[in-house]
Amino acid sequence: MNQSPPVETRGLTKRYGGTLAVDGLDLTVRRGEVYGFLGPNGAGKTTTLRMLLGLVRPTSGTASVLGEPPGSPKGLERVGALVESPAFYPYLSGRDNLRVLARYAGVGRERVEEALRAVELSGRAKDRFRKYSLGMKQRLGVAAALLKDPELLILDEPTNGLDPKGMAEMRELIKRLGRGHRTVLLSSHLLGEVEQVCDRIGVIRGGKLVAEGTVAGLRKGSYGLLVRVEPLEVAAGIVRRIPGVEGVEESNGLLRVAIEPGRAAEINRRLVLAGLRVSELRVTERTLEEVFLELTGEEER
Ligand code: ATP
Repeated sequence: MNQSPPVETRGLTKRYGGTLAVDGLDLTVRRGEVYGFLGPNGAGKTTTLRMLLGLVRPTSGTASVLGEPPGSPKGLERVGALVESPAFYPYLSGRDNLRVLARYAGVGRERVEEALRAVELSGRAKDRFRKYSLGMKQRLGVAAALLKDPELLILDEPTNGLDPKGMAEMRELIKRLGRGHRTVLLSSHLLGEVEQVCDRIGVIRGGKLVAEGTVAGLRKGSYGLLVRVEPLEVAAGIVRRIPGVEGVEESNGLLRVAIEPGRAAEINRRLVLAGLRVSELRVTERTLEEVFLELTGEEER
């Protein structure tokens, strides 16, 4: 089996006239993980995914997909993608639509039944496509992407436009699909979504990767302590020298200390031992939502 990462880009860049849609992206998706490509609308997610599939030519930089150049037949054989809404025949059943695609892709009919089962559409497979709900249509799109039993599944905003029930079903589906050896790369502008289904998250803003890590990792650094202490300047000097303190600033008569929350008692002890008066000590934790908004610059709008 090919051991190169399922997706690797180096300096991947796409410029549309004056717009830098993707700006020097270094992305590595590891084998077997569900990777969430997270960013607000227009951040460059779709453009990146289209470059990975060979649908858009990069302006500069490189990308490899399952060890192959994007869009090469050898790589595409092992990739399933749902990037644009696939065109299904409205008057054919879900099953017949998949059979058409299966023949086109040169895979056996048994794969059609497996794909229908995987997306839980077997019970409605005889119904015409046009009668499907949006969620079912989207799931049929995922089934189509699964026909080749791909090693890598690329999904662009798979819950877009779905109602809450459809969204929840799609999330469950993605979790199931990512459980085995298969690698899943999905894009989303919804933090709650990637938080629930992804092993790792890459945050993209203005075409650049601004943060990458596990949910827990991204949360790190979102903790802090607020200390009411006098005199403030003396306290700031003491706290700054404590190992593990990542930052100290004075705000509104309080000391804001960037440190893990479990160290609060120690900070207190050091200040008291130095003869300072600590009258309040509070742990503050920003939610992942706040961290995301800060990273994506949404706060400024
Ligand atoms: P969305 O969730 O809204 O699809 P996105 O993160 O997928 O956002 P992209 O669709 O990749 O973002 O777009 C990134 C930027 O590139 C945007 O400013 C967009 O207007 C621009 N862009 C995308 N495709 C083209 C194109 N074919 N021609 C010109 N500009 C484009």
